[in-house]
Amino acid sequence: MTKEALKEAIIQRLRINCGCSPRQAGDGDMLRACAMVLRDCMAERGATTREERDRCQERQVHYLSLEFLMGRSLLKNAYNLGLLESLTQAVEELGFKAADLFEQEPDAGLGNGGLGRLAACYLDSMTTLNIPATGYSICYELGIFKQKIVEGQQVELPDDWLDIGGAWLLPRPQDAEEVHLGGTVRTKWDGGQLMVVHEDYTRVLAVPCDMEIAGYDTDHVNTLRLWQARSPKSVDMQLFSQGQYLQASEERTMADAISKILYPEDNHYEGKSLRLKQQYFFVSATVQSITRKHLEVYGTLRNFHEKNVIQINDTHPALVIPELMRIFMDDAGMGWDEAWNITKNSVAYTNHTVLAEALECWPQTLFETLLPRIWQVIVEIAHRWQRQVEEHFHDPAKTEKLAIVWDGGVRMANLCIAGGMSVNGVSALHSEILRRDVFRDAYEMCPGQFHNVTNGVDHRRWLSQINPGLHSLICDLTGDGYLLHPEQLQGLDAYESDTSVLHRLEEIKGENKARFAHWAKRQQGVILNTDAVFNVQVKRLHEYKRQLLNVMHILYLYQRLQDSPNMDLRPQTFLFGAKAAPGYAVAKRIIRLIGSLADQINHDPLCKDRLQVVFLENYRVSMAEALMPASEVSQQISTAGKEASGTGNMKFMMNGAVTVGTLDGANVEMHQVLGDENIFLFGLKAEEAAALSRHYDPKLLYDRDPVLRRVLDGIRDGFRDGVSYEDIYRRLLFGDNCPADQYLLLADFVSYCDAGRRMIDTYGHRERWNQISLHNIARSGGFAADRAIRDYARDIWHVPCKE
Ligand SMILES: *Cc1c(COP(=O)(O)O)cnc(C)c1O
Repeated sequence: MTKEALKEAIIQRLRINCGCSPRQAGDGDMLRACAMVLRDCMAERGATTREERDRCQERQVHYLSLEFLMGRSLLKNAYNLGLLESLTQAVEELGFKAADLFEQEPDAGLGNGGLGRLAACYLDSMTTLNIPATGYSICYELGIFKQKIVEGQQVELPDDWLDIGGAWLLPRPQDAEEVHLGGTVRTKWDGGQLMVVHEDYTRVLAVPCDMEIAGYDTDHVNTLRLWQARSPKSVDMQLFSQGQYLQASEERTMADAISKILYPEDNHYEGKSLRLKQQYFFVSATVQSITRKHLEVYGTLRNFHEKNVIQINDTHPALVIPELMRIFMDDAGMGWDEAWNITKNSVAYTNHTVLAEALECWPQTLFETLLPRIWQVIVEIAHRWQRQVEEHFHDPAKTEKLAIVWDGGVRMANLCIAGGMSVNGVSALHSEILRRDVFRDAYEMCPGQFHNVTNGVDHRRWLSQINPGLHSLICDLTGDGYLLHPEQLQGLDAYESDTSVLHRLEEIKGENKARFAHWAKRQQGVILNTDAVFNVQVKRLHEYKRQLLNVMHILYLYQRLQDSPNMDLRPQTFLFGAKAAPGYAVAKRIIRLIGSLADQINHDPLCKDRLQVVFLENYRVSMAEALMPASEVSQQISTAGKEASGTGNMKFMMNGAVTVGTLDGANVEMHQVLGDENIFLFGLKAEEAAALSRHYDPKLLYDRDPVLRRVLDGIRDGFRDGVSYEDIYRRLLFGDNCPADQYLLLADFVSYCDAGRRMIDTYGHRERWNQISLHNIARSGGFAADRAIRDYARDIWHVPCKE
């Protein structure tokens, strides 16, 4: 499509869909028009892709996730469609400043953090690698909340993204599915066959809204299918005519609630009934849609597992297992064994966490009332699985650990292990912990079922698109082959001693820092010191991620500066960005603490041009895109054994930031390719941390170490704003319905400060630092989503993909 053709198409969309001319159009109108033009372009290619797929009858991938953190799509799609330049020109010629316009696109925030962003990166790679794949999720009206900081505290605002973001979606009411909730189940004989009858249920309509996904350098297009919940009835006219106006629309309200809002908990399970409704609504609509389509093409479900693989992103979509069983038995009339064989060979499960509070365990009573037929199927699965376990181990303790239903709770991870063909962790260390600890017994029963696929990120978005300066340097040195073959980034290693390349790298970082400073000034009015090292920790706020350890180190530096005002201290700007789940009180307190510390340091003349602390409001994909290219130090400091992988760590690495981190998650593999000399490691290893936790007393460390004691006392006493943080101090030293300092901050403090020292000393040796930065970029190819998707395709899905 040429620039002129794009212009014509945009003008037409403006007139038809927004009722305005380019001169009358606002930014919102223009964004909607551009989105619709690219959407049409992709829809056309999508039709061809789907025809081809039905003709070839290859195995398809269905990627199910309650979260897809897509972020913005306009630049991404234009980039992948090869239209970036012509779109930019077209928009400018229609009287808009392209860069400013693109910055107005709202993020599609249909996810919390890493898990949701992973799904988005994988869609890009699956499409680029020509894998026939569909993503499925819920079309939440409200995505992840917008964060505002008011008087130091987080306030949540609704994220109404559909107003403009909806322009990417194609509603397909003709493909709607009906989902049944509640009601009762009875059996009856029909023609000599025992039939299951589900009745008196509430019907909810699931309407698909499709978002087309373009790949890079391919005509292949995949789809992200987002289900919207609607009541099949509008209002009950009988109730209405009796004057019961509220009751008349009750069912409608109930249905609308299901796709209203994303649950904002990251790495945390909430046993809310509406959440279970969301999960089943999503799963049932998706499975019905997949099986219906399969029947249309093949006329039978008996070969379903040969032609389909369903990957589930954590246990949130685990009900695919009983839902497939229900459809195979109740609708297709299969017997248990055949239905089970097909189900078992269709579903693969990705585990994302070992944190106990994140493992889903639903109350049995909720299943009995909300999903009576699914409950019956689960009970039968659980019985058969238990018999298998007993026969294998003859050990009641293992029977209990592996049980699917136990003590009134339904354990979703065990359901996934029993009902799927594959379980995978998301980094080498995490997969090892699953095999040796969390799922030890299941691993012993079925070792072949366990895999590792280390996470990866879309390097085209997270490097080429957001860091054009670095992209062009890479192209100058090694060509653009890395776009489809990220391992070619290795070629950069050859320039480790080329001073002009190292200097250019430093310049690019400097330009990116200035650009980000400009962005931050416009966004929230802060003035960043671009002469200081940009030392960054951005991710969801969680105690295990240890933002508080970062705070302790900053306070330690500040106290040293107070002792020796004339000391030689290289300037550092500490940047934080993090949303706290609205119900996570401690996380919100830590945000407030960061604000208090920032206020203290930024107002102390002693710190001027030396220390700066900034909390960046509303961390989200589009902020990460502005920030990663400007970052110099990446804080990846979770308690070893707790972060399954991390993906933020990979985005930083690709952009040349140097990691200060623990041997946790994918940091372990980053260290493997980087060597000790290109990463600043510190702290306990996973096994040491687990061993220490068994007899840990942080109070001993506090009593013994005056430096540590002073830092903690400083937190207790608070800062110039007069807010006390004694609660946090007490939580660390004595606990509070939880073990004291569960995440071992005090145990790692000294080692962390030492890593900070080594890092900042090295930064002073500019040539050496730039070399480390270069090595990080050069060896980041293994952390591209393309590599991860090739792993899935080869080891788990058994589908071909582009070389
Ligand atoms: C990548 C990303 C994350 C994940 O960060 P981690 O440091 O791996 O937890 C979270 N949120 C956003 C917006 C991201 O882009």
